[in-house]
Amino acid sequence: MPSHDVLIIGAGLAGQRAALAAAEGGATVAIMSKVHPVRSHSVAAAGGINAAINVADDWRSHAYDTVKGSDFLGDQDAIEIMCSEAPAEVMHLEHIGVAFHRNATGELDLRAFGGASMNRTAYVADITGQAILHVLYEQLMKHAHAIDRFEEWFTTSLVVEDGRVAGVVARDVRSGAMELFAAKNVILASGGAGQCFEPTTNGLICTGDGIALAYRIGAPLMDMEMVQYHPTCLPENGFLITEGARGEGAHLLNGDGERFMEKYAPNKLELASRDVVSRAEQTEINEGRGAGPRRDGIYLDITVVPRKRTLEALREIVNIGKDFAGVDITREPILIRPGQHYVMGGVKTDVNGRTPIPGLYAAGEVACVSVHGGNRLGANSLLDTLIFGRRAGEHAAARAASTRMPSPSRAYVRADESMIERIIRRPKEGARRVSEIKHELGTTMNEHVAVFRDEPGLRTALAVVHRLKAEAAVAYIDDRGTVFNQDVLAAIELGFMLDCAEAMVTAALERKESRGAQFRVDFPQRNDAQWLKHIDISRNGDGAPLVSYSAVTFTQWQPEERKY
Ligand SMILES: Cc1cc2nc3c(=O)[nH]c(=O)nc-3n(C[C@H](O)[C@H](O)[C@H](O)COP(=O)(O)OP(=O)(O)OC[C@H]3O[C@@H](n4cnc5c(N)ncnc54)[C@H](O)[C@@H]3O)c2cc1C
Repeated sequence: MPSHDVLIIGAGLAGQRAALAAAEGGATVAIMSKVHPVRSHSVAAAGGINAAINVADDWRSHAYDTVKGSDFLGDQDAIEIMCSEAPAEVMHLEHIGVAFHRNATGELDLRAFGGASMNRTAYVADITGQAILHVLYEQLMKHAHAIDRFEEWFTTSLVVEDGRVAGVVARDVRSGAMELFAAKNVILASGGAGQCFEPTTNGLICTGDGIALAYRIGAPLMDMEMVQYHPTCLPENGFLITEGARGEGAHLLNGDGERFMEKYAPNKLELASRDVVSRAEQTEINEGRGAGPRRDGIYLDITVVPRKRTLEALREIVNIGKDFAGVDITREPILIRPGQHYVMGGVKTDVNGRTPIPGLYAAGEVACVSVHGGNRLGANSLLDTLIFGRRAGEHAAARAASTRMPSPSRAYVRADESMIERIIRRPKEGARRVSEIKHELGTTMNEHVAVFRDEPGLRTALAVVHRLKAEAAVAYIDDRGTVFNQDVLAAIELGFMLDCAEAMVTAALERKESRGAQFRVDFPQRNDAQWLKHIDISRNGDGAPLVSYSAVTFTQWQPEERKY
């Protein structure tokens, strides 16, 4: 049985950064990913990464912008750590080979981004995530002696013995073989849960696996109601047009050709925080001022940016516009609308990535530290993955030195083998196909758990999720083989997504106010007296979500009215 001091589930930016830090801390490390590491969703990150590296900037200004962006729900101790450690982390990336864009005088160039009081987003054209992920992967290869890679291995469950983490069970996607991995520490770095929604900007692999795996063994989730809708997504498929476009100066126009953000955010206009811009767009559409043939979109006008600059700094979205919307964004506006993009919530951790279960850590989008609170600022997520990935790796390596290696029972493997056997044998009669259930989940969430929410809509969503849970338990698949059986993995992922969706809707129903990404039409005001607190969701004995609250940590910034 493979056994390691630190086993990391997920090889996006958070996982790879954690692996490198744990190896440097002297631990034996394994990193596991259900796809090849450089296909992790981090590869799609476009616009950039925030850090107060400009001499005129200060990390406290970055921290304040983040607190305000979070609508005061973010934990300020964690935000201070993230923002104060950011400049050194970005410089570290630069030193190991990330070719950040430079300005005419040869300094790192910084672009404007939403909710930021000055330009502080470092970038590599609009392929920043890809550039960083590939450089980290090179570093992983360099440490091949200390880091075992399990590429295309799918974690099916976490193993807990005597109240502490003892390892995981996983399936080799290529052969279908099941294996037990012993580990003193497990770091979840398995990314977000955007696939609970349809459409979404997120890759097909973002199915909330780690959130559900942790929840199932009793770890609490936090801020699950906070789901970010990005203001600029293609209407048909949810593809993202990076906020970098507005950072470079692009305008938003309604169907009457009006630059409507003047009404909603007179100072920051298109560069207000994402929750504010998405709500403004949806209001224009709902009130009949939408753009496009069905008046259900908004125009993003990038033609105001000099063409040469667009071709240099936004070349990927030039391609996306051409290939997926038939629009040359350098010559005409492109139709967009708000679309699901990011989950602020996740597995509740402290600033070292620790969960309340000894040996279980989480970092990156799967985790909730909470640095994003009610709304994440653009370009703060890449930063979050790296800072808290590194801190979790360092902490887990140190913990390994004083922890004995567990030897979990093989019964865990047999349990998951028979779970998979049962999925494969499910009869077609009277059952639905996994993909149909997933589609209904996604469209339901996108209808009722989106930019605007209310009690009747959320109750409908919860009822649908409950019915889909029952249907998923008997849903059938077509592929009964062992080699690259994605069908069986999709059935398991559907279970993960349904757990995540149930937690999101439960928390959204619970929070009877409007804050950040949660806008309740029936409770349109922010209510600090009653709701300036986190909602935690744990699984109770019979598998239902149990709600509790925890305090928000304040250091320097008291809540105030939020205006952009
Ligand atoms: C289109 C797009 C553009 C974005 N642009 C930006 C940007 O410009 N700036 C910014 O700050 N943020 C951006 N974001 C957000 C940011 O990219 C993500 O939040 C971040 O990259 C998540 O990184 P991660 O390491 O937590 O997870 P991911 O990169 O999603 O990696 C998850 C890993 O977990 C593995 N995994 C999952 N489940 C299992 C399982 N069951 N078994 C084994 N392995 C598993 C996957 O294989 C993968 O390796 C963007 C997001 C999207 C979707």
